[in-house]
Amino acid sequence: MSTATLEFDVVVVGAGIVGLAHAYHAHKRGLSVAVVEHTDRVAGASVRNFGHACISAQSGEALRYARAGRADWLTLSVEAGFWSAETGTVALARHDDELAVMEEFAALRGPSTARMLTRSEVLTRVPADPGGVLGGMVLPADLQVDPRTAAPNIARWLESVGVKFFWRTAATSFEPGLVRTSRGGIRAGTTFVTVNHDIDRLFPDLGEDIELQRCALHMVKAAVPLRFPLTTPLFTGWSLLRYSGFETMPSTPTVAARLHAEFPDETTLDLHQMYTPQPDGTLLIGDTHIREVTPSAFQSEKGFEVLLDHTRELFGVRTVDVVERWQGVYSTAPGREFLRAEPLPRTHVVTVTTGIGMTTGLGLAAAGVAAAFDTAAVGV
Ligand SMILES: Cc1cc2nc3c(=O)[nH]c(=O)nc-3n(C[C@H](O)[C@H](O)[C@H](O)COP(=O)(O)OP(=O)(O)OC[C@H]3O[C@@H](n4cnc5c(N)ncnc54)[C@H](O)[C@@H]3O)c2cc1C
Repeated sequence: MSTATLEFDVVVVGAGIVGLAHAYHAHKRGLSVAVVEHTDRVAGASVRNFGHACISAQSGEALRYARAGRADWLTLSVEAGFWSAETGTVALARHDDELAVMEEFAALRGPSTARMLTRSEVLTRVPADPGGVLGGMVLPADLQVDPRTAAPNIARWLESVGVKFFWRTAATSFEPGLVRTSRGGIRAGTTFVTVNHDIDRLFPDLGEDIELQRCALHMVKAAVPLRFPLTTPLFTGWSLLRYSGFETMPSTPTVAARLHAEFPDETTLDLHQMYTPQPDGTLLIGDTHIREVTPSAFQSEKGFEVLLDHTRELFGVRTVDVVERWQGVYSTAPGREFLRAEPLPRTHVVTVTTGIGMTTGLGLAAAGVAAAFDTAAVGV
């Protein structure tokens, strides 16, 4: 289809969760919206993740977006028809220093964000090998969505309510008010470029300025013969090193020093041992983090071995039946969680530069659309 004469209030480039969230919030304001996506379906990071809206463990700007996006997830789950669950997250402590971080976090944030669990409370919720478990905490506000259907169903639903999608169409360059694509130009009042790590292919200077890299992750979906089903996302001690909310806890450096000394291979792979249970009874198991401008096509088996070894040990099982393995990729840049730039008038580049786009994307987009249109209204 030629795009020659088309014009929209908003053109979004990239149909991952960040782009779909911008399309959703623009559509809710009654604006005409088009989405340009160079693949034929949602196939990027937004279907390769854990489906974990990890709200409680964020801080600052990310926490604001995460909290704002929570209601949107629940609304979209009904409107667009995908599985979501207000399960919270359970974090398991297997060492005194992990328990100390959790106690510090729970004391700082209060029971609506984090509540300590006794050892027996953890063991009624988590089918872990009881041997090493000392206690844990629950983060009750966290959500889960089905990562395989959430973003694809949002795209389908947006299409059904009038958002125009140009699939198999690549955006190639931008001018004020114009998006050039592989099918021709599209006139745009406002453009949101939400192409995740590929911003360096469209705006190379921007990519270089923020030292953008691609973070590649080993992921596994597996059937694990658990004593009873796991019904919440599960964090381990490694999770305490992963999220900004835990960063400033006094005992976090002690956990980091111990895990890094005890597990050098896992440290090289930048392991984050966590799990999300899926509606079909399997677990999503992850992950590793290898940062390069261009990720290697060749995933080491070591990354998968580490994930499976730690899973067998944590749950005290002999077998883990792998259903699928895959590589996820998200954008990363030192010292920042988000990139928001306006390299051309009314052309906004928006990228989540760490692995929290499912958690923050909806709130980030609400703020971005509001800023673009509320400022425009003031300027009129
Ligand atoms: C393994 C893994 C686990 C994760 N787990 C979680 C989690 O549990 N919770 C959480 O909050 N976050 C998680 N994340 C992070 C989260 O998935 C990402 O932050 C989020 O999906 C990024 O969304 P996006 O829309 O920016 O990117 P994508 O989903 O990658 O979408 C970008 C889209 O842009 C398109 N595109 C690129 N260039 C062009 C072009 N020139 N023209 C047209 N289209 C273009 C691509 O085809 C792609 O569809 C995880 C990520 C990974 C990889």
